[in-house]
Amino acid sequence: MIASGEVWLVGAGPGDPDLLTRKAERLILAASVIFHDALVGQGVLDLIPDHIRLVSVGKRAGRHSKDQKSIDALLVEAAQDGQRVVRLKGGDPSIFGRANEELTACRAAGIPVRICPGITAASAASASLGQSLTLRGTARRLTFVTAHLQKGKVLELDWKALADPQATLAIYMGKTSAAEVADGLIQAGLPGATPVALVESASLPHERHFLTRLDLLPLAARTALGDGPALLLIGEAVGEQSIRSNGGVGASALADGPPSLPSH
Ligand code: SAH
Repeated sequence: MIASGEVWLVGAGPGDPDLLTRKAERLILAASVIFHDALVGQGVLDLIPDHIRLVSVGKRAGRHSKDQKSIDALLVEAAQDGQRVVRLKGGDPSIFGRANEELTACRAAGIPVRICPGITAASAASASLGQSLTLRGTARRLTFVTAHLQKGKVLELDWKALADPQATLAIYMGKTSAAEVADGLIQAGLPGATPVALVESASLPHERHFLTRLDLLPLAARTALGDGPALLLIGEAVGEQSIRSNGGVGASALADGPPSLPSH
């Protein structure tokens, strides 16, 4: 399914190996070399047999073990060497995954490159909360946005466009900029009482989620989260059941992990 000299950008999903697509698993097993991110779940890496060369090119905020250009070059070189190359990425490769640089580098070198989609963090977070990301008539728009803050820079987002009371915002890489996000949205007119969910390590055994409201988001992001990747979900849809049934302001729910699947 992968020819030698070919590159596949494969979505590994949010971490739980059961959320890997069947196609992703087949590609992983057919690879001769796999370059993977830090976000790829250990359970997914455990599926990779020993004879396949596994190379970590992980990047976590602030700690780049390889820069993007070196990763592009590694993929191209491996393909030129006749390898069957899988570039395994957390979530979906096409969402905040630097896929474009890798596609461009491969195409420029005349290397066939394809994408296998994965389940993105926002979908896993919604499953973790047991909440729909859209609500008929109330949350008509779902926006994926990154609030990745580069050192020494100000977060420049179109707050007016984002502060839509009929939207759900799924904010990737927003943990460290949570205060700026809350500020920007409130100043652009989104009510401070807008429900917010922080979901950390969605789909993994140590997943946690925390429900709060927009004006309390800075405090919640500082105190409620650990070291794992976290997504901020903002909008009426995420508070639909939990916040109201818990009595509102600052209501929180901490989960001990996803329910396990029945075993056969
Ligand atoms: N391509 C990935 C996103 C990469 S950007 C995807 O489609 O999911 C990295 C950001 O994704 C993290 O900073 C975090 O905001 C989010 N993320 C990735 N995995 C996550 C998880 N299991 N739980 C919560 N957020 C996650």
